Amino acid sequence: MSTSKSKYVYSFGGGKAEGRSDMKELLGGKGANLAEMSSIGIPVPPGFTITTEVCHEYYEGGKKLPEAVKPQVEEALLHVEKIAGKKFGDPKDPLLVSVRSGAALSMPGMMNTILNLGLNDESVEGLAAKTDNPRFAYDGYRRLIDMFGSTAMGVDHEHFEHELTALKKEKNVKLDTDLSAADLKELVKRYKAVYSKHVGEGFPQDPKDQLWKAIMAVFNSWMGNKAVQYRRIERITGLKGTAVNVQAMVFGNTGGDSGTGVAFTRDPNTGEDVFYGDYLINAQGEDVVAGIRTPEPISKLHEEMPKVYGQLMDIRKKLETHYKEMQDIEFTVEKGTLYMLQTRTGKRTGSSAVRIAVEMVKEGLIDEKTALKRVNPDSLNHLLLPQLDPKSKVKAVATGIAASPGAACGKVILSADAAVAHHEAHPNDAILLVRKETSPEDVAGMHLAKGILTATGGKASHAAVVARGWGKPCVVGCDAIHIDEKKGQITIGDQVVKVGDYLTINGTNGDVMVGQVPTVDPSISGHFAELMGWADKTRTLKVRTNADAPADAKKAREFGAEGIGLCRTEHMFFEGQRIVDMRKMILADDTAGREKALSALEPYQREDFVGIFEAMDGLPVTIRLLDPPLHEFLPHDEAGQSEVAKQLGIPVEKVKRRVEQLHEANPMLGLRGCRLPIKFPEIGDMQVRAILEAAIEVKKKGKSVLPEIMIPLVGTVEELAILKKRALAVAEQVFKKHGTKVEFLIGTMIEIPRAALTADQIAEEAEFFSFGTNDLTQLTFGFSRDDIGSFMPAYVDQKILPVDPFQTLDQKGVGQLVEVGTQRGRKARKEKHDQHLKVGICGEHGGDPESVVFCHKVGMDYVSCSPFRVPIARLAAAQAALGNVSRDK
Ligand code: PEP
Ligand code: MG
Repeated sequence: MSTSKSKYVYSFGGGKAEGRSDMKELLGGKGANLAEMSSIGIPVPPGFTITTEVCHEYYEGGKKLPEAVKPQVEEALLHVEKIAGKKFGDPKDPLLVSVRSGAALSMPGMMNTILNLGLNDESVEGLAAKTDNPRFAYDGYRRLIDMFGSTAMGVDHEHFEHELTALKKEKNVKLDTDLSAADLKELVKRYKAVYSKHVGEGFPQDPKDQLWKAIMAVFNSWMGNKAVQYRRIERITGLKGTAVNVQAMVFGNTGGDSGTGVAFTRDPNTGEDVFYGDYLINAQGEDVVAGIRTPEPISKLHEEMPKVYGQLMDIRKKLETHYKEMQDIEFTVEKGTLYMLQTRTGKRTGSSAVRIAVEMVKEGLIDEKTALKRVNPDSLNHLLLPQLDPKSKVKAVATGIAASPGAACGKVILSADAAVAHHEAHPNDAILLVRKETSPEDVAGMHLAKGILTATGGKASHAAVVARGWGKPCVVGCDAIHIDEKKGQITIGDQVVKVGDYLTINGTNGDVMVGQVPTVDPSISGHFAELMGWADKTRTLKVRTNADAPADAKKAREFGAEGIGLCRTEHMFFEGQRIVDMRKMILADDTAGREKALSALEPYQREDFVGIFEAMDGLPVTIRLLDPPLHEFLPHDEAGQSEVAKQLGIPVEKVKRRVEQLHEANPMLGLRGCRLPIKFPEIGDMQVRAILEAAIEVKKKGKSVLPEIMIPLVGTVEELAILKKRALAVAEQVFKKHGTKVEFLIGTMIEIPRAALTADQIAEEAEFFSFGTNDLTQLTFGFSRDDIGSFMPAYVDQKILPVDPFQTLDQKGVGQLVEVGTQRGRKARKEKHDQHLKVGICGEHGGDPESVVFCHKVGMDYVSCSPFRVPIARLAAAQAALGNVSRDK
């Protein structure tokens, strides 16, 4: 609110400041940090910040500045003049200033900086004489006309650029720096003509006029297209506006004793505690960015300007001790004097974030809790996947869509079956599966592959989704590759890669490279292990994994999983003889036929469970009974159906008929989940027997087992009651046969809204709940999880939904069902059985940091996620336990 006492302008410089770093909302990030640096004795050119409140009032008042701003700016300018020892507009020795925008959150490129403000036809001569450097003075003036014209007055920068190019051509020179002082004077003339032509008046000669126009330009840029778009994309809301920073100019381009640079106080890629950055001698800031000259590494400054380097090292230390964070800084050296122009929290990679957080604890700068809060859990992804060896320099031959991060290198194989066969013959070979697209029948081959590359498909294609679930590198939609299965080769441009030749993919950026590019494997060690240890001490939520194979279970344990929250048994039916027996079961005419086929499948199931129980030695293992609709196990094309008929020794018509019979209009709402064993009880019986016999076998080997049998897609307590009774009867038989027992639980997934609402009834039968939030989201929204690709981007774009609810749990809607289900279930179980109902989540959300925080708040016992997200969930759970999370975006 505007009052005559409102303070709109905050000065800094000369070792003092009216602002502080915790005033970012009012002064913007840049202004607040300039003030802070100034007050802790770091050399900063003097200046002042006009607050974000002014921006707010400017728009509130119909684009008019509050009255009191003007006198406050005048006063602050006097203060700058006093410290700088120069006067703004002095024709002999002018004070020049820069004008920059700066909101509370960094909005790169919102408005270009205007430099050298205060120059005019007269003072440019003064500057030339004073510095004895007319070239420098006229170069500064022509830059001002360009920046002021394009940034403040809307003249297209191209018009100025055009004049520059034309002059260089006339003078027959290549570089801007080859132009002489006289040339630049001529350029000023031409720039002024451009300015007059497009603005309709001459370039303002009154420095104050320049200043006010520049200030207004910053405020106007707040509602400019670029800024509005940026805030929308980054979902930045609730900011008052931008501040304006006016600051005395210092020049890095006044000779060999001047320069400019950018640096990080630690290495932003590795996190190593070394000073990291670049500089250029005799240059202005934009020269470093423009890439015309190659900057030198900061370590070399030690030789060129030892005194300045020493000062910078002191400042580096001072800034880190003060901010207790890694900083990203900008500096300029003018005639041997160092000035800091900016400091802010530095952006960094996941591995760097971990190392910096842990080392800062060791250095006593921060405590463990702060370290845990600082690291964005998602950024750990970077540490968990095989990466291309950073030392390798192999170039990409094609680029597709980066579908699942990490790098993979292997021998090219063109079909899933061939991958299986190749693996049987050469189990140690790395395979790279290359397909036009993949389908559920390919999972066995996909699982054996180190990475997957497809010519078609997007981020939600089968290959992408399955690969992500496994943490397997994957590139999809790479239309530059042409697959010729007959010839056994692929072509990429004019390169031919034969089956068995090596190919490498980088799922982090979509690159495809010919040959064997070395990769490095992840492990949790060093700083990462230490941070994870602190997370485990802090969190109360347990973290389990979704895994269907012993190798995945083992990997997840290495990553800290405390059990399996979801073993999807259907994934065990796709390989080799198993799929044949599965199909026999599906094609059987009667119960006896089905039982025969099932008895062939049973040993495989038992074997798999033994492997998983052994890998998880002593940790709970939740095994879900068969869930998907049966048609997923049969091929839908003619050729595939004939092959099945041949394999099974039955007429192809019979296969076709069965596929037609199994066809459903909405298979996701059809015969699947618990409906399968309700209709075909023998399927459930076989699975329960296999689980319990495997448990007994492992127990006999002296290991402890904790099986949890999970019944999917339950909507009514009656379904669960029938299936539970049947499972208990099977258990009875198994225990009798083996003369021994194992402890086990029977529970259910809550993935149908009705189940969540009637959780009190269901909990009378269920010993645990696991929220299947994939299906629960699908059924609550009525969004088919396989078809959202066609509309979800539009939904997010139009802000109907903030994010894809299959990625981050919709707390407002689906979350209510989770909360209600948990509360009602827990209460009923306590009242009826005096037992604690174990509650977890096994939908994809179990590995999403924001959703994990929600699960913690709801009071779940555990979250379960894919092996590669286990460390991410451990850290997110720790952050949830710590409350307020204050990490960088
Ligand atoms: C779920 O629905 O959340 C779930 C874990 O099961 P699936 O994804 O296998 O349907
Ligand atoms: Mg489900």
